[in-house]
Amino acid sequence: MSLPFSLIIGAVSWRLISYPPSLETHTLAAGNTIGYAMGFFARNAGRPKLVVGQVTACAGLIFIGYLVDPGRFGYLYAALLMGVIVANLYVSKSLYRNIVNAYNATRETEYLARYDKLTGIANRYTFNRIVDCAIEKEPEKVFAIIFLDLDKFKEINDTLGHTAGDAVIREMARRIGECAGGTAQIARFGGDEFLIKLDECDNISVAALASRLLADLGLPYMIDSNVVRATASIGIAVYPWQGRSTEALIKNADIALYEVKKDGGGGWRNFDAKIEKKIAQTRKIECDMRVAIDEGGLIPFFQPIYSLRTREVAGFEALVRWTHPTYGPISPAVFIPIAEKTGMINEIGALMLHKACAAAMNWPDHVSVAVNVSTRQFCRADRLFAALVRALRDSGLPPHRLNLEITESLLVSDPKAVRRIIQQFAHLGVQFSLDDFGTGYSSLSYLKDFPFKKIKIDKSFTDTLASSTASASIIRAVSQIAADLNLDVVAEGIETTEQEQLLASIGVEWGQGYYFSGPVPQAETAGFFRPPSALSGNVLLFSHSALGTRRNEGGV
Ligand code: C2E
Ligand code: CA
Ligand code: CA
Repeated sequence: MSLPFSLIIGAVSWRLISYPPSLETHTLAAGNTIGYAMGFFARNAGRPKLVVGQVTACAGLIFIGYLVDPGRFGYLYAALLMGVIVANLYVSKSLYRNIVNAYNATRETEYLARYDKLTGIANRYTFNRIVDCAIEKEPEKVFAIIFLDLDKFKEINDTLGHTAGDAVIREMARRIGECAGGTAQIARFGGDEFLIKLDECDNISVAALASRLLADLGLPYMIDSNVVRATASIGIAVYPWQGRSTEALIKNADIALYEVKKDGGGGWRNFDAKIEKKIAQTRKIECDMRVAIDEGGLIPFFQPIYSLRTREVAGFEALVRWTHPTYGPISPAVFIPIAEKTGMINEIGALMLHKACAAAMNWPDHVSVAVNVSTRQFCRADRLFAALVRALRDSGLPPHRLNLEITESLLVSDPKAVRRIIQQFAHLGVQFSLDDFGTGYSSLSYLKDFPFKKIKIDKSFTDTLASSTASASIIRAVSQIAADLNLDVVAEGIETTEQEQLLASIGVEWGQGYYFSGPVPQAETAGFFRPPSALSGNVLLFSHSALGTRRNEGGV
């Protein structure tokens, strides 16, 4: 483009100096200038200062020349030149703006792809690349990955709102940066989770940093006018022993973190062989549980619930039992969380409903059956509802004899949605109990907002009843509120005569525990309905079989 253009300019200039001014030379000069302006503009679009400067310098003099000596078409050419200058200015500016916007957008996208917008530190992607590069460049070099998050961050978000949650996360990033120092690489993994890559990583320095982080992150957070307190948990994996790839290291640090959380949080832990063994065991339980579900290896045992006043059985709680081929009897406290994680809880829940309803058909009409429903089952409320309808239909059990035991954690997650679901279920005629009352949030408002029939006071209160006046006072107060709201109260975990008598004197109507009986197989439930004379006047008769059953429990 530039050579022909230069030739044209040269030819035109030659033409202009070889002839006296005329209409033809005026036209040539105007055409040449316009051509030059357009060409220059085309080459320099997006550089408005340059375009306007050059074009004005070149066309300005000719423009003035036309005004001074207009000849025949001078004014027309002057107007044309002015038009060209203005058009150039306008088009060039808007092009420039578009280019700048596109450039900024690209830079922002690039930034967002590598950094966390909220805290300004690296994101997960960048962290992965940093660790990948470190492993590739110096495969022999030892380093540690520290995975950390705040305990109960969700509660901060839920109670103070997301803006406050964001402020806590920003403050966390600041404290972690300060604590870890300049050489450590820090990234936000997501939510309130952060990652640190630490190069100086003998045991002492990692432990020292972990303790410092816990102390710093545990300091109060001042958010608006609220003082927020939170502890943190930390999991650590060291390259190459606890993971040879970025993915394995992060996963193992996360597993170690999870272990800390399970123990109540507020601490740190290294990924170690014990955890590895536990993971392998969990995996085995997971696989074998699938088979057990299909082959009928999971069955309900039934624990009686007694009237403390009449000493008669009012119902049974169905508790799932599984005897593992290698590990022996496994406690539901071990395998239910695994079932919840894998979703198998939906199948276990359905089969427990089915078997419990069928068993209850063999009992007197006034005896109810309680089935535990896990919070996780409410994620698939449609499946739970279908299982419930099927269990009632197949067994023919009147719905009011079925009691679903749920815990408060379910109600906290999304109270409105859960209330809608529970109300749908209650329309079927089934009843609801609030299980483990006193261990969670124990919000009394749940008692009025949800259609509960029973409150089950947690075993921890029964345990401390004899030694703590506070436990007695709490049970008494809850019983009074329950009576006002027309709710039944069941005390869990009664193990001694003293506990039973104290509870009865406080006014608790129902009780459950090894003092009466542990969970028994279905075949043994019939024994609980023999006439009182056959019981030798003592309900403790049943606790022998129960204790036998209890001794068999445990395993993993
Ligand atoms: P939970 O619902 O609070 O059940 C009561 C637990 O306390 C049962 O343990 C029972 O055997 C035990 N227990 C009863 N009386 C006494 C006592 O006097 N002393 C002591 N120390 N313990 C007593 P289990 O059967 O091991 O169940 C543990 C937990 O597993 C249950 O706690 C429940 O949350 C869960 N679970 C059990 N079966 C099922 C089920 O079918 N579905 C679901 N979703 N969860 C279940
Ligand atoms: Ca229960
Ligand atoms: Ca309970």
